[in-house]
Amino acid sequence: MESMYNDLEKVLFTKEQIDARIKEVAKELDKDYEGKRPIMVSILKGSIMFYADLLRAMTIKTEMDFMAISSYGNATKSSGEVKMIKDLDRSIEGRHIVIVEDIVDTGYTLNYLKATLKTRNPASVKICALLNKQERRVVDIAADYTCFEVGDEFVVGYGLDYAQIYRNLPVIGVLKKEVYSS
Ligand code: 5GP
Repeated sequence: MESMYNDLEKVLFTKEQIDARIKEVAKELDKDYEGKRPIMVSILKGSIMFYADLLRAMTIKTEMDFMAISSYGNATKSSGEVKMIKDLDRSIEGRHIVIVEDIVDTGYTLNYLKATLKTRNPASVKICALLNKQERRVVDIAADYTCFEVGDEFVVGYGLDYAQIYRNLPVIGVLKKEVYSS
């Protein structure tokens, strides 16, 4: 039988580990944003699993909105070019914004997103990332909330893809090298 698991070299984080860590981060957000009704902005498509679980783990009132930006395409290296594909539906003036992203790698994407949203006069803009790949950072930007640190490896699962595949893996893992080269 075809299984995505056969393509993994190793599992970095199990669903149980992800759930436990998300609960902790959700608690922090509940505390920091109590009474502020933040707009939680999901960056499509990589953040969807994280976003859905994080928001359900939160207990304060929040609103949802979505943005899509161009990323890697089918390659595994960032070009530094960022383009908006889908903008937010509503104005964010005077509102507290939390950008929910899958992974901060070079930092180009978040740098662009944060700068773009800040021009719209929100009350605040913070970043909540599932993963941080510090070793590869080019732009000096850090997430305000991070679930896990990863090394300089290409990871998939739990929303993260390779050529649009593996997003529905419930775990986060490293792909076998032969998957890229085939
Ligand atoms: P940055 O602009 O920080 O270099 O890259 C951010 C985007 O690149 C992420 O939102 C994600 O879509 C993609 N990316 C960076 N590293 C990885 C990785 O290890 N695996 C996958 N699947 N995507 C990654």
